[in-house]
Amino acid sequence: MPDLSDLAARLRFVLVRTSHPGNIGSAARAIRTMGFERLELVMPARFPDREANALAAGADEVLANARVHAELVAGLVGCNLALGLSARRRGVTLAELSPREAALQVLAAAARGEQVALVFGNERSGLENAELAYCHAMVRIPSVDDFSSLNLAQAVQVMAYELRVAMLGDNLPAAPPEHDEPPAEATQMEQFYRHLAQTLDDIEFHKGRAATTIMLRLRKLFQRARPDEHELRVLHGILADAQRMAAQAKAGSRL
Ligand code: SAH
Repeated sequence: MPDLSDLAARLRFVLVRTSHPGNIGSAARAIRTMGFERLELVMPARFPDREANALAAGADEVLANARVHAELVAGLVGCNLALGLSARRRGVTLAELSPREAALQVLAAAARGEQVALVFGNERSGLENAELAYCHAMVRIPSVDDFSSLNLAQAVQVMAYELRVAMLGDNLPAAPPEHDEPPAEATQMEQFYRHLAQTLDDIEFHKGRAATTIMLRLRKLFQRARPDEHELRVLHGILADAQRMAAQAKAGSRL
């Protein structure tokens, strides 16, 4: 069975566009009480901040080690699995998990050696579609429909608690066979999406339609498939050939 601290070290809590530094402090405390350490802050409105330290109530090391990023993908570098916490179901729907189901999936991934992110949105607007597009599934805490939104740090606490309970349980996933290839990590996926978007342009796929919607759909497809590095290389190869053919066709039509 994998070591609990090894598993915990593969998990990170990512807070996106947090408005209130107090919530960052409370979130640090929440994850620290459950045995987690790693906090990533994406475009926080105010950080570092005295309010964050006050509410961390001793979880200062988590805050001191928290890294600040200018974009979500920077907070996800190295991650093979990202789960977005959202109170609302969004336009481009992702698979929806309860915190308990999510905890089991997260631990199974961590036991395979994968790095996992739990992504939380802004206090008012939550996670936007473009942010959820980095995620493989959505986690919804089953609150009531007419008042569904928890305080950010409390949502962090619920998720961290479920992870802790799952880790203390006796059905921890076993380490997998060595030859399993992990899914590609976030930066590699972003590189692939850029290549895909460029290729769609090159082959004039859009024909006046909006590129954003189709890219969100394609991201959803590939996030669900979770290709490994080898599979991504094949896909890059196909895209490169399509680009080459498109360039040849263009050159030919100019003759
Ligand atoms: N109106 C926003 C709520 C933001 S609350 C929305 O609809 O998402 C701030 C963050 O706390 C959310 O982005 C989410 O990450 C988390 N959160 C709050 N309530 C939640 C719930 N019921 N389920 C899952 N995450 C929740």
